[in-house]
Amino acid sequence: MPTSTNCVSFASLGLKEPILRGVRAAGYETPTEIQANAIPKIIAGAELIGLGQTGSGKTAAFGLPMLNLLCGGPPGLRGVIIVPTRELCVQVAENLRVYAQHAGLHVCTAFGGVDMSIQESAFKRGLDIVVACPGRLIDHLERRNISFEHVKMVVLDEADRMLDMGFMPQIRRIFVRLPQERQNLLFSATMPKEVEGLVNDFLPNAERVQIGSRSQSAETISHRFVAVNAHDKQDALERLLQRESGRVLIFVNKKIGCERLGNVLKRSGMPADSIHGDKGAEARYGCLQAFTRGKTRFLVATDVAARGIDVDDIELVVNYDFPLALEDYIHRSGRTGRAGKSGRALSLVAPMEKRLYLVVQAHLQGKDVSSMPSAGRGYGMPKRREGGRPSGGGGGGGGGRSRARHAAASY
Ligand code: AMP
Repeated sequence: MPTSTNCVSFASLGLKEPILRGVRAAGYETPTEIQANAIPKIIAGAELIGLGQTGSGKTAAFGLPMLNLLCGGPPGLRGVIIVPTRELCVQVAENLRVYAQHAGLHVCTAFGGVDMSIQESAFKRGLDIVVACPGRLIDHLERRNISFEHVKMVVLDEADRMLDMGFMPQIRRIFVRLPQERQNLLFSATMPKEVEGLVNDFLPNAERVQIGSRSQSAETISHRFVAVNAHDKQDALERLLQRESGRVLIFVNKKIGCERLGNVLKRSGMPADSIHGDKGAEARYGCLQAFTRGKTRFLVATDVAARGIDVDDIELVVNYDFPLALEDYIHRSGRTGRAGKSGRALSLVAPMEKRLYLVVQAHLQGKDVSSMPSAGRGYGMPKRREGGRPSGGGGGGGGGRSRARHAAASY
């Protein structure tokens, strides 16, 4: 895989034998670039800020050294990983359980939308690491279901997404309750100002590991843009899907449109479903399971719901609605072409979306788009949250140079 480093082995990074056995169980042969760079530094005790594109192997980059630190120590909550969404929570915990299977360490999850008592019972059966969403973590702390007293390492994953989703005040509340003596790690695809503020407060002496530019698409993804009138999009999508034999993730900007499009595709007999923030935790989990197992092949999603979807072999990402910001385009297309595999991104661009399309196109061609007026977040348009409400989040990022394969737009 192109992102891995051929000359470095996992054994040479300083990981203990039970953790190396976990890495072998995951089927990883060589570390990715971010893993090779970050793991030895974290093992040596450094605080670290890891910046890297989606799908670059960040989970193992922080997960393996955390397990390494806790392996062989006394039981009890010693590792905390904070993530923005339930889906990411489940996926990070699943990955860690694979890596931890020979180390005798217990990984639990804490996210909203499910009964707290189920999570509390799991904590009582054994808890060394908790992977949690901020709100539910605070709830458990306040009810004294968990204690931070013995925490040795804290990871903030997808810090820029936490900011987008308005989690920064909760993150600060969590951080002040942690013990002074601890190792902090922060991972993010981009580094907006507010995240930089958190870094200055809580990781002032952190080392930085940056893989690629701050806002970059994977090189393995090809990008295509098709000009289509807004009212012809549905037909265009149906025709397109009829030609696809693999998994396709389709993005829309609003929850209501997401549900509607999913139903339209289902009614035309396609193996389709939709995932968005108005669906409960169980329904969203079921949706992802069906997609992972191939029961549904076409999944319509909003940005927030799709964050953290790490389903192997998504062949095509379709932007049914054009994203409202360059970074969203990068996150969406990053759902395909993961772990070095090739992938395709196709956008249906209506005339009113052309301005944003030009920003994305310029970025993919390696042009500096930070000075482009009136297009996308940070370029004059407010970032919208799922459901269409403007968010308070700042711009940040953008302007990165991508060497992504880029098919000429047919706009
Ligand atoms: P992540 O960026 O952590 O979400 O990882 C993206 C995908 O790459 C996941 O499916 C991981 O299981 C996979 N992956 C992570 N590290 C490696 C590695 N060293 N070798 C092969 N696959 C990996």
